Amino acid sequence: MDSDERSGAGPAGGGTAGATLSEETRSRILRAVDARFDDEVRFIQELVRHPSRRTAERSAQDLMERAMAERGLEIDRWALDPVELFAHPGAGFVEVPYDDVENVVGTYRPVTESGRSLILNGHIDVVPEGPEDQWSRSPWDAEVRDGWLYGRGSGDMKAGLAANLFALDAIREAGFAPCGRIHVESVAEEECTGNGSLSALMRGYTAEAVVIPEPEEDMLVRANVGVIWFRVRVTGRPTHVREMATGFNAIDAAYFVVGELRALEDRWNAEKAQHRHFEDLDHPINLNVGMIRGGDWGSSVPAWCEVDLRCALYPGTSADAGWAAITEALAAITADANGNPITAAATRTGFYAEGYVLEEGSDAEAVLERAHRAAFGAELESFTTPGYLDGRVFVQYADIPTLVYGPISRAIHGNDECVDLESVRRITGSIALFIAEWCGIEERAEGA
Ligand code: ZN
Repeated sequence: MDSDERSGAGPAGGGTAGATLSEETRSRILRAVDARFDDEVRFIQELVRHPSRRTAERSAQDLMERAMAERGLEIDRWALDPVELFAHPGAGFVEVPYDDVENVVGTYRPVTESGRSLILNGHIDVVPEGPEDQWSRSPWDAEVRDGWLYGRGSGDMKAGLAANLFALDAIREAGFAPCGRIHVESVAEEECTGNGSLSALMRGYTAEAVVIPEPEEDMLVRANVGVIWFRVRVTGRPTHVREMATGFNAIDAAYFVVGELRALEDRWNAEKAQHRHFEDLDHPINLNVGMIRGGDWGSSVPAWCEVDLRCALYPGTSADAGWAAITEALAAITADANGNPITAAATRTGFYAEGYVLEEGSDAEAVLERAHRAAFGAELESFTTPGYLDGRVFVQYADIPTLVYGPISRAIHGNDECVDLESVRRITGSIALFIAEWCGIEERAEGA
């Protein structure tokens, strides 16, 4: 049945929770998104100009807090507490001070709550920009060129944070008010531990659905991997280089250790056919050597080397099981190919997260399908992503259907990151329609 024309927004006080939107209501809301889109782009630019790298999110969070307060949302801002977090099995290990690492949540409460509740989540932290001379512009100037907005964090995911706020605006400016409670979350730590979203959940923020507009190429994430961050310290035997053969080079040995971990990666990739949604990916399990340091002197055989790695896990493999496999693989390394004894000790450094699958057939997904079709004039597609997403926090620890769905981007975590503004406009419209149908709307009383 095509129920698209079933019902519009009801009279003031009535509300429409659970009803599909009329064609007229949809176009009012989408027109309101278009009318404010220049402001939305300016807001993304302002956000990008705050380099909110890990532990330096404060000024960008100030901006988010101001934007939420201007919209009349009830503000809750708090610093993440590593001790409290660490009691949770899904917390990532923390090696940085959390004094300045804060979440901001803005809550909208309808006068009478008759609709379904919703969390609109996004992360404020961005990954380091890397060598700036590899960029063709400053990573922080937020230039718009040929319909793309450039800058570190533009796609991942400041455009998404803006889309959440401007989607809410569009409903109001179209003359409606949502009938459900809505929490707009701007969280830290998505790029390293997932502790920001986890902290918001532990603080009591739950809802009947979650939307996270990560840069997902206008598609919905069906499944994603878990991620573990860890550091391997390899110990050598230092000597002067003139008698190098009597020493043992910890940096050379680290290559060997990484090679052994690659064997584990190969084994896990070879098992992809056993994991629904991952069969068709070329290489779902990626082990990344992210950072390396070692040695003390150019003419001394290095006594130590530390390698920071990131490894993926299939959904259904617990972080504990993944970690056990990694540490067992390391414990099995006793000597290199020449028989030199190796000690390789691993410690956790961040993510300790299991992947998840968004089960098909949820009501939330059906509502998003209709919203996407109206905003894009195309069917919603879903896909599997071999990267970490905060969606796992809500799916695994609160059993909330979580829609990770957002705009087209290029080069996230790379040089010249940018986001497609036409895609951002449509995603904003789609999220606005999602809010309207999921929470229900009522005509807003004059002056409200
Ligand atoms: Zn992201």
